[in-house]
Amino acid sequence: MSVFTYRDGVMHVEGVAIPAMATQVGTPFYCYSAAALRAAWREFADATAGMNARVCYAMKANSSLAVVRLLGGMGAGADIVSEGEMRVALAAGIPAGRIVYSGVGKKPSELAAALQAGVGQFNVESAAELETLNAVAGQLGLKAEIAIRVNPDVDAGTHAKITTGRKGDKFGIDIDLAREAFALAGRLPHLKVAGVAMHIGSQLTSLDPYRGSIARVRELIGALREDGHRIERFDIGGGLGIVYRDETPPSVADFMATVRRETDGLDCELTFEPGRRVVGEAGILVGEVILVKPGAAKTFVIVDAAMNDLIRPTLYEAWHEIQPVREARPEAAKIRCDIVGPVCESGDFLAQDRDLSPLSAGDLIVVRSAGAYGAVMASTYNTRPLVPEVMVDGTRFAVTRPRPSIEAMLAAEWLPPWMEPLKGS
Ligand SMILES: *Cc1c(COP(=O)(O)O)cnc(C)c1O
Repeated sequence: MSVFTYRDGVMHVEGVAIPAMATQVGTPFYCYSAAALRAAWREFADATAGMNARVCYAMKANSSLAVVRLLGGMGAGADIVSEGEMRVALAAGIPAGRIVYSGVGKKPSELAAALQAGVGQFNVESAAELETLNAVAGQLGLKAEIAIRVNPDVDAGTHAKITTGRKGDKFGIDIDLAREAFALAGRLPHLKVAGVAMHIGSQLTSLDPYRGSIARVRELIGALREDGHRIERFDIGGGLGIVYRDETPPSVADFMATVRRETDGLDCELTFEPGRRVVGEAGILVGEVILVKPGAAKTFVIVDAAMNDLIRPTLYEAWHEIQPVREARPEAAKIRCDIVGPVCESGDFLAQDRDLSPLSAGDLIVVRSAGAYGAVMASTYNTRPLVPEVMVDGTRFAVTRPRPSIEAMLAAEWLPPWMEPLKGS
């Protein structure tokens, strides 16, 4: 059951009416449902119960401290891609041992910070990174537990910008070259080889790419063991898709059943790194109509949320459902419109060619399935303040990231010391 429902003609998030939040917070803002986050997390917890497995939430999907704290409180580990995400995970109370550090370009300073914090696993993606991590760990007198991320050369069947497991993508070590990389890792004294990792893409709606790549990694694990490596962990990555429009992604239970079948008898602890699937459908972006501009071909509904707040439509050609906060009368005529922001770019749109019942200035709209890769990708383009975030839990709501004031944005900029502000203007 959705937590985003109309009651008496007004959309609510759990027990909170959206207009009440808009009045207090102002628009645009992101809103996350704690109940939806818990339900999504529980699917992973339930499906992995009894398995030798751990689930590390991929923070890059949504690194809001409140979201990470909620998931951490339910036992989540974290999959991080930067020192910043590590600091948020630790601030949220996730133990360092439950953190996996992913990413194709970790700086020595970031590796050092992660080693000192006690991060449990480094997923290494190149021979150069093996050497650097070994050197940094040596300097600190520490040993890094690593998995090597391999690129299994499968097509995840998703958008080109979020497929990561084909030859030619920058991620992982070619599976054909993996044995050499493991041999190198085995010679480096400050590394402890623990396993193999993969992550083949995002918004996967079929299990076939998982099957294909697990089979390939399984073969590799056999070869590595013959080479004398102790392979105790297999990190499957994330990538499970969500519903934006009419997709039919597999259930988490079916996904886990497939993984169990494909890894049967492998004798590895499994790691899962879901991001989008945990937070995507639990979040919305709320905006207000500034004005409506009828055109010859179609009508433009100009709202105060824009590409700098949610870049997915223009970056990935992503489709997000747009709904009015005041429920449309079913008999109301629909008009064809583009929902666009005020930013000075033709790519600034949230939705194109939608048939919606007429909207007018002051109406609130909701952009659905915006909890993942939404607020985290926001910018201040056009000197628009970063969009605030709100969490709802039952009948309560709280601002978890306030909108910065323009004064605060100005105060964060410095003039060069030789430059005087213009006087008298
Ligand atoms: C992005 C990413 C994830 C999460 O992907 P989702 O599609 O959001 O589940 C997991 N692992 C790694 C290494 C990633 O880069």
